[in-house]
Amino acid sequence: MEDEEGPQCGKPDFVLLDQVTMEDFMENLKLRFEKGRIYTYIGEVLVSVNPYQELPLYGPEAIARYQGRELYERPPHLYAVANAAYRAMKRRSRDTCIVISGESGAGKTEASKHIMQYIAAVTNPSQRAEVERVKNVLLKSTCVLEAFGNARTNRNHNSSRFGKYMDINFDFKGDPVGGHIHSYLLEKSRVLKQHVGERNFHAFYQVLRGCEDSELRELHLQRSPTLYNFTRQGAGLSVSDSDEKSHHQAVIEAMQVIGFRAEEVGSVHRILAAILHLGNIEFVEKEEGGLAVSEEVLVDHVAELTATPREMVLRCLLARTVASGGREVIEKGHTAAEASYARDACAKAVYQRLFEWVVNRINSVMETRDRDPRRDGKDTVIGVLDIYGFEVFPVNSFEQFCINYCNEKLQQLFIQLILKQEQEEYEREGIAWQSVSAAPHLGLGAGRGGAGSGPGLEPPLLLPQVEYFNNATIVDLVERPHRGILAVLDEACSSAGTITDRIFLQTLDTHHRHHPHYTSRQVPPPPRPACSGAGTSPTGATAPVSVGTGDWMPPLQECPPPPFLLCLDPGLSLSPLQLCPTDKTMEFGRDFRIKHYAGDVTYSVQGFMDKNRDALFQDFKRLLYNSTDPTLRAMWPDGQQDITEVTKRPLTAGTLFKNSMVALVENLASKEPFYVRCIKPNEDKVAAKLDEGHCRHQVAYLGLLENVRVRRAGFASRQPYPRFLLRYKMTCEYTWPNHLLGSDRAAVSALLEQHGLQGDVAFGHSKLFVRSPQTLVALEQSRARLI
Ligand code: ADP
Ligand code: MG
Repeated sequence: MEDEEGPQCGKPDFVLLDQVTMEDFMENLKLRFEKGRIYTYIGEVLVSVNPYQELPLYGPEAIARYQGRELYERPPHLYAVANAAYRAMKRRSRDTCIVISGESGAGKTEASKHIMQYIAAVTNPSQRAEVERVKNVLLKSTCVLEAFGNARTNRNHNSSRFGKYMDINFDFKGDPVGGHIHSYLLEKSRVLKQHVGERNFHAFYQVLRGCEDSELRELHLQRSPTLYNFTRQGAGLSVSDSDEKSHHQAVIEAMQVIGFRAEEVGSVHRILAAILHLGNIEFVEKEEGGLAVSEEVLVDHVAELTATPREMVLRCLLARTVASGGREVIEKGHTAAEASYARDACAKAVYQRLFEWVVNRINSVMETRDRDPRRDGKDTVIGVLDIYGFEVFPVNSFEQFCINYCNEKLQQLFIQLILKQEQEEYEREGIAWQSVSAAPHLGLGAGRGGAGSGPGLEPPLLLPQVEYFNNATIVDLVERPHRGILAVLDEACSSAGTITDRIFLQTLDTHHRHHPHYTSRQVPPPPRPACSGAGTSPTGATAPVSVGTGDWMPPLQECPPPPFLLCLDPGLSLSPLQLCPTDKTMEFGRDFRIKHYAGDVTYSVQGFMDKNRDALFQDFKRLLYNSTDPTLRAMWPDGQQDITEVTKRPLTAGTLFKNSMVALVENLASKEPFYVRCIKPNEDKVAAKLDEGHCRHQVAYLGLLENVRVRRAGFASRQPYPRFLLRYKMTCEYTWPNHLLGSDRAAVSALLEQHGLQGDVAFGHSKLFVRSPQTLVALEQSRARLI
């Protein structure tokens, strides 16, 4: 690997471009990609293009080149970013985080693995046993989480179907002593159904293909995935160059290293098998009335594998218990459609709980044991965020809505932090600055005066405004209390079964019709709902029934309860209609569109309420809590409650997700951020092909041009004096090959004076700040003439 980058490799930092245009940006990106230079900086932000081929960029030798170096000393690399985050953490005791973003298949997860490998390689030189243990758990956790949380999709054969944020805790020596993983919104609907060309989660195929014959017999499974409804769709598809059996073995080994007990691994396999059997259970309505399962033996299997009484399993599948006032309960038989719906809800929930249990189990062994007493028990932390990128499909549902909202939040944070970071650096380096109204459209307060008089520019630098699309208004559209889309959705879900998709959409329209980022296809006015009808505004205008919290809307709770109110957890009163999204009467395509920062996305509201409620009959919870398998039982603590005791409405999926996003953003904002912006070069997942249109779009919505402009608006470049000299010392007789000027700063000053460029710079405590790109271009040209 070359350490130096000649001009034939393009600019290693987009800040060095002659002009900031999309054309120039793309030209540089393309040139570098062709030369195998997949990494390029924008200041401290790393832009990475997925090469879709093994490049000789990684491994111990490469790690050694970056270890302990300054960010710019070597060609741009993930290792340099990992090193910078690590050094900031170690030297300045700062909590740092590395935020990796980009669309599906852009290389986020691979990047996070390289970062982890770097950190593992440069820590624990004294080989402390406890640190080694933590490092092993950190490294092996990826393999286990990928088995349960990743799946083959059309966009990525190993696509993470959950968001992941991992904290690594370091002691005062800078060695990892613990960690914690947060997972976000597993795409559990995949358990039931996959698009053409896609598969279920890897774990299912690994068990089917990888288990020994004897274990398979114990699980009552046969080898072929085509035999199971949940795996049939993806049965013929493999994961690229993968052998399911060896993956299965690797996962078991990783689980052992992490500390999963053998009986726990056994339970995990039994739970996966139970889900597969559950998926094959069909329901038939008996002629004499009532419901039966198609194959009773499947119920036997499920009961055996979940260590629950067979009769109870059957009862849960065919009926539900309903509180009918006081401590009275009655059993209400399902229709076939209700039973299928309940079975699917159970399968999804069991898988989700399994996944969460795996995450928690890993966390339990990564809890910091040797706390550093010098920091009052507080370690320093590096967080690594690898979370789903912006998603647009032909049909977009609740999951895409949540994922895209998450991306809006992260984009907002990016905008805020990038500017904040600029200002903090000026202060740290003693550079006087004053912003021009501090770009108020970015949500930052007014600028302060210069933080230090220092030998900065006089008069204080004025930071010009950079037009940067502020997406705060979109975030607000989604999460605003009472009126935001999530609040309206929650309100719709809490009402007693009267709210249809159409009314939900109508209410969204009422609230957001004039919002610049919201549109919906015109829907005909809804028929007056039987129970409540339209409300009248203070101005006398009639308006559709609202599920929002508009003051003048008639409260829907006043509706007489519909006759089918008896079901599910108390408070989750769903009509049979809503329980069965496959019901023909619900098949109407209605959608709304959000103009996201990354583009327009049309969402179909069908299934929104259902997915948001995320309801599961209490009977299933109780059944699984009563399992004699301690591992399974531990996943269902909420099954303890009796139906008559369940009074609190559980938080909806949307609200839980919003809360987790707010917490995540708060957490990231408290840390010093490093960014990796990943770009997917083409949709075909092939090497050496950079589809320009596709990349342009990503460059645009990731805001990379604006990022370059912000960086250049204040100072185009800032570099530690030694690094500046390393790059340009050959252009000056006083500095080549070495200088005798007392300090690097004096040498830099002499160099600039010789070029006549000293008027365009400011001298910080440790860095040189170069104001205009032209100065850098001039220096680059002198350098290029010499090498
Ligand atoms: P994302 O997490 O953004 O969806 P992944 O990290 O899973 O994407 O990458 C998708 C695929 O692209 C990987 O399975 C791998 O084949 C390839 N890939 C990604 N990054 C690299 C890299 N740095 N070098 C080689 N191949 C890569
Ligand atoms: Mg991923």
